[in-house]
Amino acid sequence: MSPSEMPAAGQPIKLTNGLVLTMDAEHTVLRNADVLVVDGKIAEVGANVASPPDTFEIDASNGIIMPGMIDSHRHMWQTAMRGYGADWTLTQYFVWYYLEHGMKFRPQDIAAGNLISALDAVESGVTTSVDWSHGLRTPEHGAAAVEALSSSPGRFVFAYGNIHAAPWEWTKDPEVRRVIESAQNDPGIFGTQIAFDVPGDEGFPEAAAFEFARDMGLTVTTHAGVWGATGDPGIAAMYEHGVMQPGYVYVHAATLSDESYQKIAATGGVASVSTESEQTCGQGYPPAFALRKHGIPASLSVDTSVWFSADMFSAMRTTIGADRALEHYIAHQKDETVTHATLRVEDVVDWATRGGATAIGKLDEVGSLEPGKLGDVVLIKNDVSPTMTPIINPYGHVVYQAGRGDVHTVIVGGEILKSEGILLAQSHLEKARNELENTIDYLISEIGEEQWQMGQYPEIPETEILQNPYQYRK
Ligand SMILES: [Zn+2]
Repeated sequence: MSPSEMPAAGQPIKLTNGLVLTMDAEHTVLRNADVLVVDGKIAEVGANVASPPDTFEIDASNGIIMPGMIDSHRHMWQTAMRGYGADWTLTQYFVWYYLEHGMKFRPQDIAAGNLISALDAVESGVTTSVDWSHGLRTPEHGAAAVEALSSSPGRFVFAYGNIHAAPWEWTKDPEVRRVIESAQNDPGIFGTQIAFDVPGDEGFPEAAAFEFARDMGLTVTTHAGVWGATGDPGIAAMYEHGVMQPGYVYVHAATLSDESYQKIAATGGVASVSTESEQTCGQGYPPAFALRKHGIPASLSVDTSVWFSADMFSAMRTTIGADRALEHYIAHQKDETVTHATLRVEDVVDWATRGGATAIGKLDEVGSLEPGKLGDVVLIKNDVSPTMTPIINPYGHVVYQAGRGDVHTVIVGGEILKSEGILLAQSHLEKARNELENTIDYLISEIGEEQWQMGQYPEIPETEILQNPYQYRK
């Protein structure tokens, strides 16, 4: 289908005869049902929905219609380095970005990462992403990040951050305030947050940043529960100073004590679980199991494309896999057998939709297919793939069977951004490619060809030779 065959702006869109996961509070599932989008919002969901005049229809038969997915934590600027750190640990990530090379990124490099990251999200069915934008070492970097998000298709929550300075310092800069205000007033930006971490240093210098957040009406999102970086002391300091507010987002939330989880739960915190990241990089065991124990609402996130793509199917699959692996492991240690898995596929679909909406404080606008909510809709359908037949357990199908290649249609606010499996924003992709070429050339020239190559392939130290009679050495 060519863009010329797309509906005109304002034309009603109806997805017909699909299996609808409404993700309403009751998780209502409708078979052979329609979803009507009018004026950018969900107008009706149900069987035999009448078409207003001039409705553009999309055949959803043999497909699953679900709300657009929501990623609650993604360092979008780092998509410029897509896959570069695939063999890294968290330590190597910290060294490369925080100590050695993160400062080299110019405003246009931040923007280039955001442009490609935005398309990556939309193409995979993620209609809203939180840009945890922590490479903003100057307000000019911030302005470039906002502009890139605002001009990209899809919805974005801009979370201002800067790993190159202390949060109590950069929040004092009136220019930073101006950039955040411009994002708050930009109709192309869906929401704003503030992003910084609390290691738990003496004297709690972060108090000023929390004050700034309150003053600006910003939700705080913080990497809390990261092995060797932010753990119980950070939570203890925040709790002691009374800054933990309902809706604040605790990213990773691994490696924490029961007491810290209790503090998060008691203050109305929300978690952002990045299972692919936690199990790869070493923040701690993916926390879904602990969050469930403590009743902390969960959302899902992808973290960074320096390892992982924007794909929430992977996020759902790895999250349920890690949870079930732990459940079995704990039982086996006691010589017991798990006969009933307690985390269900339905739960992780909830976390990828409603959970994400909760984490951005916008469950009244997105996260489910209900009349009055924004028209952010994903159709999973692939008539040429054997994977889509039969569809028996729709939640199971979304989590364990489907992939981003099966995302047929993506609609954001009543605008079709992907159709018949093809991203329609090809001009945006072209622009992002050009910008990235410039960024990569620049970074290689700054870092040096040899360092650039070496950075991707961290050496494995020589294995210590064990005392062993069968090893002959001097
Ligand atoms: Zn992160």
